[in-house]
Amino acid sequence: MRLLEERIAKDGIVKAGGVLRVDSFLNHQMDVTLYEEMAKEFYRLYEGCGVNKILTIEASGIGIACLTAWAFGCPAVFAKKSRTSNLADDVYTARVKSFTHGGECDIMVSKDYLHPEDRVLIIDDFLANGEALAGLIKLVRDAGATVVGAGIAIEKAFQPGGERIRSSGVRVESLARIKSMSPEGGIEFC
Ligand code: 5GP
Repeated sequence: MRLLEERIAKDGIVKAGGVLRVDSFLNHQMDVTLYEEMAKEFYRLYEGCGVNKILTIEASGIGIACLTAWAFGCPAVFAKKSRTSNLADDVYTARVKSFTHGGECDIMVSKDYLHPEDRVLIIDDFLANGEALAGLIKLVRDAGATVVGAGIAIEKAFQPGGERIRSSGVRVESLARIKSMSPEGGIEFC
């Protein structure tokens, strides 16, 4: 998606260790007009696939997931990273290694919000090693629901997540795919 690539090239900041900061439009301040365009593109890609639920993970995926859910006319559910007192006891869980924080956490979704008849489109901001996506796929499958596919804003194609998830048979569509990046050399798209 040219619009997103142009925005990454203009405002993205490449940090050491393979981390891209996009705080000015995606991860902190949110450009909701850009989100709307991304949501329309996800809709174009997955229209006709019977999507009736969007699933993401807190926090950065939520904004994009909301606009995408609006495009599909269905609910958006986000997996929680900590068990709060208002979360139901009965949850689907998966253990996920965090790319940005290093540690592991259990993500969870209440059994009230994922059902066997659901056809789920998973949305996230980044795809790096595929840990978050693999965890979300597990939650959907544990519920007996169907993973229609994944919609990713930015895939770092030089990391193994995309290959890992696609080779497991899950459709992954990324709006911007980064071939390489470095603080000195900038960003090259696929
Ligand atoms: P993965 O689980 O695929 O290794 O990493 C995906 C998750 O880590 C995303 O949900 C995202 O929040 C975070 N992440 C991975 N790489 C980056 C990055 O380069 N920049 C930012 N801002 N977040 C990232």
